[in-house]
Amino acid sequence: NKKITMTNPIVEIDGDEMTRVLWALVKEKLILPYVDLKTEYYDLGLENRDATDDQVTHDAAKAILKHKVGVKCATITSNNARKIEYNLKHLHPSPNATIRAILDGTVFRKPIIVKSIQPTVSTWKKPIVIARHAYGDVYKNAELAIPGPGTVELVYKGTDGTEQKILVSEMKGPGVVQGMHNLDDSIASFARACFLYALDEKLDLWFATKDTISKIYDGRFKELFQHIYDREFKAAFENAGIHYFYTLIDDAVARVVKSEGGFLWACKNYDGDVMSDMIASASGSLAMMTSVLVSPNGAFEYEAAHGTVQQHYYRWKRGEKTSTNPVALIFAWTGALAKRADLDNNGALQAFAKQLEAATLNTIESGEMTGDLARLANPTPQKTLDSWEFIEAIAKRLERD
Ligand code: NAD
Repeated sequence: NKKITMTNPIVEIDGDEMTRVLWALVKEKLILPYVDLKTEYYDLGLENRDATDDQVTHDAAKAILKHKVGVKCATITSNNARKIEYNLKHLHPSPNATIRAILDGTVFRKPIIVKSIQPTVSTWKKPIVIARHAYGDVYKNAELAIPGPGTVELVYKGTDGTEQKILVSEMKGPGVVQGMHNLDDSIASFARACFLYALDEKLDLWFATKDTISKIYDGRFKELFQHIYDREFKAAFENAGIHYFYTLIDDAVARVVKSEGGFLWACKNYDGDVMSDMIASASGSLAMMTSVLVSPNGAFEYEAAHGTVQQHYYRWKRGEKTSTNPVALIFAWTGALAKRADLDNNGALQAFAKQLEAATLNTIESGEMTGDLARLANPTPQKTLDSWEFIEAIAKRLERD
């Protein structure tokens, strides 16, 4: 068989622990036999990030801006425990936060639905897609621990010499303070990305903040969304028969669990972080959630929404074949391959990405799956596969179909 060729590369970003192990396996068994894969490789494994003083993370993000399509494995966000475990020189910020700050944009997370697995929330009939703003707020904050009583102020010094100052708190004793920001441009591109995605997929769009409490900060998000909707999207939404709906975040959460699903839920950065894991696990499994970062510069980064599956990795290192679910990793690759195909007009590559997705879902629906899904599936499968057996089953199906 002749392999499918590619014109332009995908930026391949390797990662850590169990997902790094599966990354290589997915490539070897499911992609390389069919595609003459062209990638520009960046090793974001924790050791290499530390060795390069995190330069490799910045280089990888810039490469995505250049080549427009990236695929990323899960990576460890270092903390003190990891500093000891990996004997690190420094603690570096989360690679995802660094990449998002460079690419800007919006992360869309969509559960992968299979017929044999019912969501925990029984009213959900259709997937709920989360759009997470990927810039600013608490992910680009400045924090201070305050040793004792004193005054905390927020000061703005305009480049034109103007100044604004506001009292944050007269601190009565030791404590903590935090400053956050966002940019009108980034909020506006978040809004446009959401309206466009909703139109593209013919989904209602929900957006929620806490603007009753945060009248200026969250208020700006609400205002910009409404302004852009009214001026740029209202007519198109009405034509498509879809709706834009704004409410308070607490009201949105209450409505979501009673809804049928089938809409796009736009979330501020932190809300999206928290709610996407809730949606993923309530839809089935964390390992059944796709994630793509859509940058206003026309670049796309695909990844699994879950982390490095640390405990499985330690078991694997002790020689055990774990039943770690590789589906979201596979879909990160198919997402990136399909987007590359789209941009390069590569029909064969496009078709292959679809085949690999279908083979993966059909494998699960025919009763062959990893442990996280086997616990939820109806009917219950007779046997739970480890990751190697599961990937082999997909490879066989791909070969056959
Ligand atoms: P995790 O997603 O790795 O695991 C959370 C839970 O879900 C665990 O119980 C795990 O067993 C289960 N789980 C997740 N993915 C699974 C899969 N594919 N198959 C079976 N079970 C799965 O998150 P965590 O434990 O909070 O973090 C572990 C490491 O991952 C940390 O170092 C963290 O910094 C990193 N992390 C990275 C990303 C990313 O790169 N996108 C995201 C989250 C966490």
